[in-house]
Formats: sequence, structure tokens, C-alpha cells
Amino acid sequence: MLLSDPNKFNQNSRIRYTLPINFSLTLASQKKTNSYVITELLQSDLHKIIVSPQHLSADHIKVFLYQILRGLKYLHSARILHRDIKPGNLLVNSNCVLKICDFGLARVEEPDQSKHMTQEVVTQYYRAPEILMGARHYSAAVDVWSVGCIFGELLGRRILFQAQSPVQQLELITELLGTPSLEDMRHACEGARSHMLRRAPKPRSLTALYTLSTHATHEAVHLLCQMLVFDPDKRISVIDALAHPYVDEGRLRYHSCMCKCCYTTSAGMRQYTGEFEPSATQAFDDLWERKLTSVQQVKEEMHKFIAEQLQTGRVPLCINPQSAAFKSFAR
Ligand SMILES: [Zn+2]
Repeated sequence: MLLSDPNKFNQNSRIRYTLPINFSLTLASQKKTNSYVITELLQSDLHKIIVSPQHLSADHIKVFLYQILRGLKYLHSARILHRDIKPGNLLVNSNCVLKICDFGLARVEEPDQSKHMTQEVVTQYYRAPEILMGARHYSAAVDVWSVGCIFGELLGRRILFQAQSPVQQLELITELLGTPSLEDMRHACEGARSHMLRRAPKPRSLTALYTLSTHATHEAVHLLCQMLVFDPDKRISVIDALAHPYVDEGRLRYHSCMCKCCYTTSAGMRQYTGEFEPSATQAFDDLWERKLTSVQQVKEEMHKFIAEQLQTGRVPLCINPQSAAFKSFAR
């Protein structure tokens, strides 16, 4: 897939791109035995793009990073931790529109710090140090660490911390960030802390980030360094990352021609939304999900949900009957 140059986006190119989406609204309500969930077509993902020989400009990196942060802000405001942010879970279309997918490991944030959370989360290369060090409880900061790793990967076109094992993973992290202080390891389990203290202390070598690529400008490295912070409590939040000047151009680019929240008037004036990065109106409640105990129940709930959606008068999303995907589906 060839990515557009973000400098050359225009409204027409977006409109031409027709998406077969939410077909399930009609199909599922007709026949209760089978449900088809058809989603937007996003041809590629960030992993495929990073490993491809395709040129990635500074504008590409900015617009991708902006969209990752924008999506995560919404998730975190709904108190959802994704817990598997990695390039392969960031779907991208040819217009550089990016969407976060795969919520298989997502969960609602645990406010009770005494409650244990599983450490079997996040693909190793993108796993935050507190998880690697056996923290019993962790926060939305684990997603920010993953974004930092991806940001570094976009700049350098290679995985930032590519280790063979969790222990080596931690090793690579400390080679860049230096040996953490005792205070920075307060969330770690005793075994991991004493392992770290037995190692020879390492100095910080964050200046190495400037060698990632020519796109690693002072502004880029400044933001990256705030995401790659060992102590999750000192790591930048998504909201603060969105306020960083590095993100401004990505925001402008996105809302100038890629988003669905702003529009261009017939006179050619761009009307911008009042909220560039919306928050959820309320925290996500997974109560309904916890009540589901059988596949049949899931199907019935889905049908109920779809039927309710049909009552709300929502505009059916665009289906392109001429698309190859639709033709092979309808066969
Ligand atoms: Zn917009």
C-alpha cells in the first residue's frame, strides 16, 4: 500500500475512499443465527509500513503519533487501558488515517492499588518497565510507554528495544535510561529490584535518541524522553503529550483534511470542531459484559444492541457495493 503524502491530502481523496462498514446492522437483524461484523477497510498497519521500504516523512510520523495519542486520550478518559499498543495493532489506510484495534487485552483501570493485575500483557518489545519488573498494579502509563517505543520505532525504522527475553528487555531499557533509582523502582517486586541492584550501574545515554534519524529533532526527542520514563508516575500522560509542541503539526494536518469532526464549507472555509481530542462522557462500564456467560447470550445481546441502534435514526454508514470486498462477501 502506498501512503499519501500528508501535504497533499484533500477532501476529495477522502470522499473517494468508500468504506464498507457496519453492514451487520442490516444482516444481523434479518437472521439471528449468523452475525457478520464488517468494519471499515484499513489496508495496512503501522508494523507493515515501518518494515516496508516506503519513505516516511516527518509529517507522516507526526500525523501518526497525533492520531495514536488522540485515540488513547479517549480510551484513557473512559478508564480503559489497552495493554497491547504495538505497531501491528494500529491500522492505517492509504490516506494515513490510523485506528487503534485489538482490544483483546484491554481492561478497565483498577482504582484499588492493592488489587493485583496480570503481568501477562503487552507484547514484550513494547512492555513498560514496571510490568517487566513485576509490579502488581499498573496504570494507563503502560500504554504511554508503548507509544514511546512506537515513536522511537517510527523515527528509527527499527524496534527500539528488541530483546530476546524479558530480562534482556529490561537490560536494553536501562542501557538507554540508565539504572533506575530505588524510588523509581518502588512499584517493582522485590526479586526484580534486587536483580537490578546487583547489576553494575549504567549511565543514561538518551542522546543516542538523536541518532535514530534526521527526523529526531530536539522537539521530537524532548517528547520521546518524557514518554520513555522508567517511573510510571513521572511518565508523561497522554493529555500532556498532546499539549507538547511536537504534536501541533500533526493535529493541524489531521483536522485540515483527514478527520470527520471538522468540515469545509461550500465557500471553501474550514470549520473546525470545538474539541480536537474528545474525551469519553463517562467511564466505560463492563458490567453488561460480565453478565454474559454463553455464546448464545452474546448473540442475543448483539442483536438487541443492533436493533436499538436501528431505532436511533443513525445514518447507515456507507457501503460500496462496487467494492471487491463487498462482492466476495455477498457471493
Ligand atoms: Zn476535525
